[in-house]
Amino acid sequence: MRTAVFGGSFDPPHNGHLALCLSARELAGVDRLIVSVSKNPFKEPADASAQERAAMTHLLVAQINAAGKFAEMSDWELQQPGPSYTIDLLRHVATLHPGDELVLLVGEDSYRQMPQWRESREIAKLCDIAVFGRSCGALAAASCGEKLPPAMLFDFDMPVSATEVRRLAAAGQPISHLVPQSIAAYIESHGLYRV
Ligand code: ATP
Repeated sequence: MRTAVFGGSFDPPHNGHLALCLSARELAGVDRLIVSVSKNPFKEPADASAQERAAMTHLLVAQINAAGKFAEMSDWELQQPGPSYTIDLLRHVATLHPGDELVLLVGEDSYRQMPQWRESREIAKLCDIAVFGRSCGALAAASCGEKLPPAMLFDFDMPVSATEVRRLAAAGQPISHLVPQSIAAYIESHGLYRV
C-alpha cells in the first residue's frame, strides 16, 4: 500500500489543493491519502481558527473522495502539545500503517524550503517526495539544487493560493472559482476572512 501525506495550514483549502490530491492518486500511485491540518503559528487576527480550518479540510476531503474514496483528514498535528514537524507526522503515520510505502506531497514552494525543515534528511529516508509545480517556473532546475532532497517532480500549474482567497474574501469579491462550492459556502456562512 502506498500512503501519501499532504500537510498544510488549509486557510482555506482551495482548488489547487484539490487538484494536487487528485493528480497524486494517478501520477504518484497513491492508494491512501492522509490530509493533515497543521498548526498555524503565524496566524493573523483575520485568519480562520484551527477548528474552522479542520472543518474546511473535512469538506476538502469529502470533495476529493467524490471521485472515489481514498482520502482521510487528520487533526493529529493540531492535537500535539507543542509545535509539530513533518518528520513527527511521518513517523506517526508510519506507526499507524506499518509496512506501507510513504509519499510526502508538497508544492514547489514548500520543497524549496525543505532544507530548513527539522530532520529533512531523515524525511527523505522515510518517504518518497512528490513535488508539484507552483507556477514559479523552473521546477526541473529545483532538482539540481544540491541541498534539496531527491524528489519526483510533476509539472503542475494551478495559480491559486490561500493568500489570494483570503484577499478576495476580505474585499468582498467572489471566490467561487478558486475553492470548492462547499468551502465557499462555509466561508460565507461563518463570515471568515472579513477584516
Ligand atoms: P498561503 O497562501 O496561506 O501560504 P497555500 O495556498 O500555500 O497557503 P497551504 O495550506 O500552505 O496553502 O499549502 C499546503 C501545501 O499545498 C504546500 O505544500 C503548498 O506548497 C501546496 N500548494 C498550495 N497551493 C498549491 C498550488 N496552487 N499548486 C501546487 N501546490 C500548492
